[in-house]
Amino acid sequence: APVLVWFREDLRLGDHPALAAALETGRPVTALYLYDDASPSLRPLGGASQWWLSRSLKALAQDCAALGLPFTVRKGAAATEIPKAVKEAGAAQTLWSRRYGAAEAKIDGEVQARLERAGVEVSTFNGRLLYEPWEVTSKAGTPLKLFSPFWRACQAKGDPAPPLPRPTKRDVTAGPALDGLAVEDLALEPTTPDWAGGLRANWTPGEAGAREAVGAFLDDGLRGYAKNRDRPDLPATSRMSPHLRFGEVSPRQLWHAVEAAKAEGAANGTDVEKFRAELGWREFSYHLLHQHPELATRNVQPRFDAFPWSKPDPAQMRAWRRGLTGYPIVDAGMRQLWTTGWMHNRVRMICASFLIKDLLVDWREGEAWFWDTLVDADPANNAASWQWVAGCGADAAPYFRVFNPILQGEKFDPEGAYVKAFVPELKDVPTRYVHKPWEATEIELRAAGVTLGEDYPRTIVDHGKARDRALAAFGRLPPKD
Ligand code: FAD
Repeated sequence: APVLVWFREDLRLGDHPALAAALETGRPVTALYLYDDASPSLRPLGGASQWWLSRSLKALAQDCAALGLPFTVRKGAAATEIPKAVKEAGAAQTLWSRRYGAAEAKIDGEVQARLERAGVEVSTFNGRLLYEPWEVTSKAGTPLKLFSPFWRACQAKGDPAPPLPRPTKRDVTAGPALDGLAVEDLALEPTTPDWAGGLRANWTPGEAGAREAVGAFLDDGLRGYAKNRDRPDLPATSRMSPHLRFGEVSPRQLWHAVEAAKAEGAANGTDVEKFRAELGWREFSYHLLHQHPELATRNVQPRFDAFPWSKPDPAQMRAWRRGLTGYPIVDAGMRQLWTTGWMHNRVRMICASFLIKDLLVDWREGEAWFWDTLVDADPANNAASWQWVAGCGADAAPYFRVFNPILQGEKFDPEGAYVKAFVPELKDVPTRYVHKPWEATEIELRAAGVTLGEDYPRTIVDHGKARDRALAAFGRLPPKD
């Protein structure tokens, strides 16, 4: 009897333990992707993620076809649709990569129980993480709450196993082809208005696109990564986040790829360790998500539950979302997000801090906007990072840390090149004013073609006053227990 591989957040063929195990059985293999917009407990994907998923599925369909592996796309609630597809395929075994969200895990448990009741064997694998959340504990066996001990515990486990090779045509015996939908039928890409032009121009979703982007990073970005990763004006980070989000590359592949680059002299140990530690933050987010199933909606520290957030002011919210706050580094970041679906990590922190501390808006508003607009919107990383900035998360920034958007801009975008790329109104403003155009004289601004309040907004809040207001409000929090 054939076997069925259920693809989910692992849209690749290389280093895919479930697929590899399926092929190893020597039996005919069928692959399936189910777009589940019907299980009420699942958080719907944001717009940018839907666009990415659509492109990624098209790439996977092509890759499967090239391998002679039948691949079907369907739509519906997993608990009913998966058993149905397995029955149609006449499959004796179903294989998949595990998921770590509470709703996802519950659905998978239900599917597994139904299949097993029907006599179908179910095999699940780790296809997404270096270390699964329950594998890493303190010496006493409890989950970890701080990154450093977490990462030490991970490292004590030794290097992750080397990645599995990508299968070739010879490895595949084709299973039955099932009736399915064309990816277009899922209608995941925008039509009118078509807002995805910037996404198309910046990204190639799919395993091949991921491979190409890794190659570019190993050639140009990894050397100096530790020093330059905070600089949004330099192409210094891997931009692997959406590829990791959709499982087009595995963290294990990246872990070993940077080591190989080092062996070839393309990077030093510090860069490699720093990059791996960032993969470690992703692991830590999943560790937290596993401990806190409501990570995206509920403060990890309950002492924040009564915090007096401001009611979001629609005009200020719009200014933040569209990059019209009058603070150039914030505006550049929010426009990078809006147009390309991605934002540099340092700038994510600055923009998040601005919403939470300067506008005193509940972090969940920001989390939701990022969820909708990021191509890498990730249930663990996004929620954990927002909680980190707000100060209510595990191992969070202390609440009294308020990013100063001017100083942050001057430090991490010293020539203003990043600002000028995304806020073209300011492209002729002298560098010393690019992060604080209001300090330039009217003559200087006029020479740069800028009238504040017309071509570029005046600041929507005074950072100094906003900071004092935030410190006072946060200072009244009950003590940390
Ligand atoms: P690199 O520096 O090349 O890092 C390699 C990989 O390590 C990344 O692809 C990512 O998977 C992981 N990583 C790096 N930094 C972090 C971090 N701080 N936390 C967790 N993992 C990290 N990341 C997401 O993947 N999805 C999100 O939805 C997301 N939302 C965020 C929201 C806020 C408010 C903040 C401050 C950060 C958020 N991050 C998120 C983390 C980080 O900004 C991105 O992972 C990073 O910018 C991706 O760029 P890169 O792939 O070039 O990173």
